[in-house]
Amino acid sequence: MRKYLVSFDQGTTSSRTIVFDSFGRPVSSGQVEFKQIYPKPGWVEHDPRDIWESQTQSCQMAFRAGGIEWRDVAAVAIANQRETVLVWDKYTGKPVYNAIVWQCRRTAEQCLQLKSTYEKLVYSKTGLNIDAYFSASKIQWILDNVPFVRSKAEKGEVLFGTVDSYLIWRLTGGKVHATDYTNASRTMLFNIHTLEWDEQLCKLFTVPKQMLPAVFPSGAEYGMTTKESIGAEVPICAAVGDQQGALFGQLCVKEGDVKNTYGTGCFLLMNTGKKAILSKNGLITTLSASLSRPDYVLEGSVFIAGAAVQWLRDGIGLIETASESEALAQSVPDTAGVTFVPAFVGLGAPHWDSECRGMLYGITRGTTRAHIVRATLESIALQAFDVVHAMEQDLRSEINNLCVDGGASANNFLMQFQADILGVPVIRPKVMETTALGGAFLAGLYCGLYRDIESLQRETERRTIFKPQLDDVRRAEKLLAWENALSRDMYRPKS
Ligand code: ADP
Repeated sequence: MRKYLVSFDQGTTSSRTIVFDSFGRPVSSGQVEFKQIYPKPGWVEHDPRDIWESQTQSCQMAFRAGGIEWRDVAAVAIANQRETVLVWDKYTGKPVYNAIVWQCRRTAEQCLQLKSTYEKLVYSKTGLNIDAYFSASKIQWILDNVPFVRSKAEKGEVLFGTVDSYLIWRLTGGKVHATDYTNASRTMLFNIHTLEWDEQLCKLFTVPKQMLPAVFPSGAEYGMTTKESIGAEVPICAAVGDQQGALFGQLCVKEGDVKNTYGTGCFLLMNTGKKAILSKNGLITTLSASLSRPDYVLEGSVFIAGAAVQWLRDGIGLIETASESEALAQSVPDTAGVTFVPAFVGLGAPHWDSECRGMLYGITRGTTRAHIVRATLESIALQAFDVVHAMEQDLRSEINNLCVDGGASANNFLMQFQADILGVPVIRPKVMETTALGGAFLAGLYCGLYRDIESLQRETERRTIFKPQLDDVRRAEKLLAWENALSRDMYRPKS
């Protein structure tokens, strides 16, 4: 019986493969890091060969570790880093340039110029703010800067894809050029209302439509892998952007369901159902993973979350390991009036202040290392609170709970404080690899290995729930202290 799903999680710094069984339980995994290329300050690239090789190697590692064979595999799923751009030759499959990574700022200036005239238009069609982060200006950069590529693109001889498309292309031996709604919705060329590539936006970014992939729901048949590419013929039954993959992996499929991933930064995504809510509070609107027409999702990102803990460890040496922060924070009853604003690179959603920087406020002679560590962990939860609050205002209703994942969600103090400050339960699943799990759920539901979402819900019941315990007065005081520190940090004297 074909009882396994092979889920690829192609991330920014590493490629992973996790094999899941017919209950959605991880069986084995493999992970391979790959090179980050920084040709100039602010530029970030990946070698497409590294993406492919690290992905296939991680798959071999997972197979070896679990004694898995292809004949036991029902389907392959792909969850991937979003927005990253690849352009390759349709006939030879050879990339015309390195992958330009989502973090790359090379087109920042060009995006700034477009903003003044086209901001409203682009936002109303795509739900995104014009920024170098999204794919469109990066595709344009390749067309404008790599010799002969534009003329080839116009003749349909080169193809664009995000990482999912590129992997699908290679896995199917160049037969399928496709992507899914979640990845398409991050290109800034895709109309999230009509669910089609948008002529006007393609013109604005001078991208020939011939080079764009066909778009499907995340759970769909994307073609068969070939023996030459990966060693066997198996259907690819899911493609999904990593954050929407995690949202699906958390089974946040109903309106109002929200998850937060605590990694380097935080990614908060809320399912808003069939309504595309255009935010008044600095959030972006995007599409969900689905097996049919996608739902809409509000998304807000916090730039610095786990990275603040890294800074405590590597920057100022207050702790030796990230996990030590938990016991240290718990060793004091509160922060003794200290508030930390981790605006190392400015503040993301919902404040959008690129000028302000980190701040420790309220230090006295009595301040200790434990207070600073505690204030740092609290700041992660307080930033997430601000995004949730913005979502609630946009949605005009309150959330019932918060599903969590990512490296820093292992911190029990942080999760308890998050529940306390939000005033709702925080739910941490047993399987923390929610991105890969989301891919596996989509593929499994599509190919029939998983019966329905309800049965998956039963399987994911083993989880930790942090219930709010802080009284309302203390909670209000905490929020007031946070707002006070934020306003001081973001204050600019009038010149
Ligand atoms: P990413 O995918 O962004 O690399 P991960 O999900 O792997 O991030 O999480 C790593 C981040 O989580 C690091 O920034 C690290 O400092 C933080 N982290 C890991 N474990 C803990 C912990 N127990 N407490 C607080 N932060 C942690």
